[in-house]
Amino acid sequence: MTTTEQNRPTSTDRTLPVPWEMCDMCGRVPALPAPGTLGTLCPDCARLQALTEAADQSLIDSVGPHLGAWVAHWQRAGVSLRELMGVIENAADYHTRSDLAEPRRFATLRALGMKYAPPAVTPALPAHVTLDVAALPVIEGHMIYADTYPGNGKPYRLNVFTVRLPNGERDEGRIIHPGPDALLMLNATPQGDAVLYLTGMHGQLFPADYPDVLRCSHALRVPPQFLPAVREALGYWDATDN
Ligand SMILES: [Zn+2]
Repeated sequence: MTTTEQNRPTSTDRTLPVPWEMCDMCGRVPALPAPGTLGTLCPDCARLQALTEAADQSLIDSVGPHLGAWVAHWQRAGVSLRELMGVIENAADYHTRSDLAEPRRFATLRALGMKYAPPAVTPALPAHVTLDVAALPVIEGHMIYADTYPGNGKPYRLNVFTVRLPNGERDEGRIIHPGPDALLMLNATPQGDAVLYLTGMHGQLFPADYPDVLRCSHALRVPPQFLPAVREALGYWDATDN
């Protein structure tokens, strides 16, 4: 017989060292504060909560457009919003407010889940960007700054562009750096304009909070006469005739 079991303290709220607490949801195991929540969750419960929130959002995303069209249709037909709310309430309760309501909802949900296959494509954030080429900032000037570095005397050259923004303002010092992942769509307009679209860096999309100025802020419309300079700025050194 060993003695190690005898003096081991039991895991109660009192004996848990800060910041450990018993899990808020299951109350069965010690847990740490869950990132992004106000609660203390064990890994299993944190995972369950994240999945439930995703399911909630997915329901809104998939049902919302249908529900919206239904509301718009019947409102136009003369049914008030209050009456439509009553219809939804009745549908959710399956026309019963007795004790049977919950078991019936449960059974109906299970039957629906068995009747319909899950979507072949998992709903995800839209990976589709629509560009209105005519509304993009457009390059309307270009110059080259060529100089030498003060320290080592090595030469450098920068392509600097003047960009007219949609609000009519001019940005006269727009530098396009080599390095970012870029799409250069040629002949995007009948006039032969190209569209430069910077998508990210090293295969990763720019984070949402990435400063606009660093990611060149927008797609740019590139008239044909500026295409060689844009190519050079992006790193196609052999595209110019220097
Ligand atoms: Zn838990």
